[in-house]
Amino acid sequence: MFDTILIANRGEIACRVIDTCRRLGVRSVAVHSDVDADARHVQMADVAVSLGGASPVESYLRGDAIIAAARATGAQAIHPGYGFLSENPGFVDAVEAAGLVFIGPSASAIRAMGLKDAAKALMAEAGVPVVPGYQGAEQAPELLAAEAEAIGYPVLIKAVAGGGGKGMRLVEQPRAFADALASAQSEAKTAFGNPHVLIEKYITSPRHIEVQVFGDGTRAVHLFERDCSLQRRHQKVIEEAPAPGMTFEMRAAMGQAAVRAAEAIGYSGAGTVEFIVDGSDGLRPDGFWFMEMNTRLQVEHPVTEAITGVDLVEWQLRVASGEPLPCAQEDLSITGHSFEARLYAEDVPAGFLPATGRLSHLAFPAGARADTGVRTGDVISPHYDPMIAKVIVHGSSRAVALRKLRRALAGTQVAGTVTNLAFLGALARHEGFSNGEVDTWLIGRDLEALTAVPDPAPAAIAQAVMVLTGLDRAPAPLDGFALWQALAQDVTVAIGDESHVCRVVSYGPGKIDVVVGETPVAARFGANGWRFDGQPARAARVEGARATIFGDPTLVVTWIDPLDVEAGAGASSDLVEAPMPGLVRQVFVSAGDAVSKGDRLAVLEAMKMEHSLLAARDGIVAEVMAEAGSQVEAGAVLIRLEEEDET
Ligand code: ADP
Repeated sequence: MFDTILIANRGEIACRVIDTCRRLGVRSVAVHSDVDADARHVQMADVAVSLGGASPVESYLRGDAIIAAARATGAQAIHPGYGFLSENPGFVDAVEAAGLVFIGPSASAIRAMGLKDAAKALMAEAGVPVVPGYQGAEQAPELLAAEAEAIGYPVLIKAVAGGGGKGMRLVEQPRAFADALASAQSEAKTAFGNPHVLIEKYITSPRHIEVQVFGDGTRAVHLFERDCSLQRRHQKVIEEAPAPGMTFEMRAAMGQAAVRAAEAIGYSGAGTVEFIVDGSDGLRPDGFWFMEMNTRLQVEHPVTEAITGVDLVEWQLRVASGEPLPCAQEDLSITGHSFEARLYAEDVPAGFLPATGRLSHLAFPAGARADTGVRTGDVISPHYDPMIAKVIVHGSSRAVALRKLRRALAGTQVAGTVTNLAFLGALARHEGFSNGEVDTWLIGRDLEALTAVPDPAPAAIAQAVMVLTGLDRAPAPLDGFALWQALAQDVTVAIGDESHVCRVVSYGPGKIDVVVGETPVAARFGANGWRFDGQPARAARVEGARATIFGDPTLVVTWIDPLDVEAGAGASSDLVEAPMPGLVRQVFVSAGDAVSKGDRLAVLEAMKMEHSLLAARDGIVAEVMAEAGSQVEAGAVLIRLEEEDET
């Protein structure tokens, strides 16, 4: 076994590899970009080396700098993780030329599987079933159109150098072929520098089932299958193992085909053979075809670990250091069922747009494995993949594992950025998915229902009102309210672009009603804290005027402070004044800045609350008279805008 290895990656996979290093007593070396200097993987590693830069090209793709870091720190081997340099045969050659071990397959095995057309031809030769199609070098459009005709519509055009669904087009009718071909080729040229495509039969009712293999360079074993049919635009969302409905015969046939594929290229280490499966008529041993082989550890490897009890990273290190395969095929078996859900910072209603932000809170529930590269306080930056974590569960059966997945997602707490958590929760409750009826079109078909935003629960809004106003902190009635006399106050909150007026009525210690719109919610304080209509308070987090009430779904509620409106609507639109005595917390502008109506110019803390002071009109800041930290009187002028005719 190695003494020291370098992990040429970041995020959750770097942390995942370091976990195993620690367990095996192997020293770990992290590399990092400038923006990742304080990242979790850097903190976890024994040694860290800066690569500089921010973008992958300036950092994690700098093979030479990574090899130099390995040599300087005494690492004997490099683990590439996934993505970045993991499937780059030139990097493998360079690592070996430097006298180091690449923890993965040989450069020639990666090359053999690098292009889809060559890989398909090679697999067909090795006796692995491949999707019927054309994968020749000749690329004349008329010839490709004739091949498509011969294969029979619908057909799929795929970039031979493709990945991530890029350069791929489904063509249902001959008349759509020419345009689809041109756009696939141009996308492939831009994305991969290679316009070549192959044409294959489009499998209707397709399921994506892949087989985990592990080789020692000569022999290989398989660690059963994963079903990755829950995809959105060819990107996996929830994966599971084993595949629902898998039969003994089909598993044996797929496993043997995958082992043949790996052995045909002298595969060493962890790899995945992806098959497309025709699910229109149940799973049949003659209904699966090779799509491609991923010559690295996959994102979704934990579901395989969960059902087999194997630590795949440990196997990678052992085999790369020269040990034989840790066990034979007959020693491997499946226990129970496992799911993995990919938690992303993304704006689902806006079309799954990647999001960024500082994670003001991040916590995972017990009873699930959470593979993550970030902690509370970390930033999801625009430089890298916006994955926050993988949430993995295991249960004795599919039904048990699915219930655990729902609970784990409901118990996952993220504040500070939008996430796909509600979408994952909806997917985990989807009826067809629950019944094991999966295919790659499931998400697309039911997208509207899966992304529908449910009406927020009045009890959760009531709780948000209480935490935002600080009323939850003491069971005593509001300061300033007379004891034992029902007193009311209106609080307006916004959820997305919907505002809700809530009437808070205090009856005495620990007894408050919050009327959300028309719906009264009884908030009562007892030995176990607050309850809302009898339900225990949910975990919550407040930052300024924003409360996050965790749960399924998590609710983000913003307090619309009436003083903001007053400050904004003030008669003298030139002056921003303190509406009450208080402490200036923050000032966001300086003289000369252009501001727009409604911009937040400063924050005043008064009466234990933060008040945003807004610009009443567009203009230029003439003068800032307040500084953060200073105490001011009511009516004090904090900021003056240039008079309108000056601007
Ligand atoms: P990429 O390398 O770009 O990810 P793949 O070849 O792995 O492309 O295919 C991505 C996804 O496209 C598969 O998971 C599957 O959902 C779908 N797909 C690929 N080939 C076919 C096919 N012949 N018929 C139906 N669906 C397919």
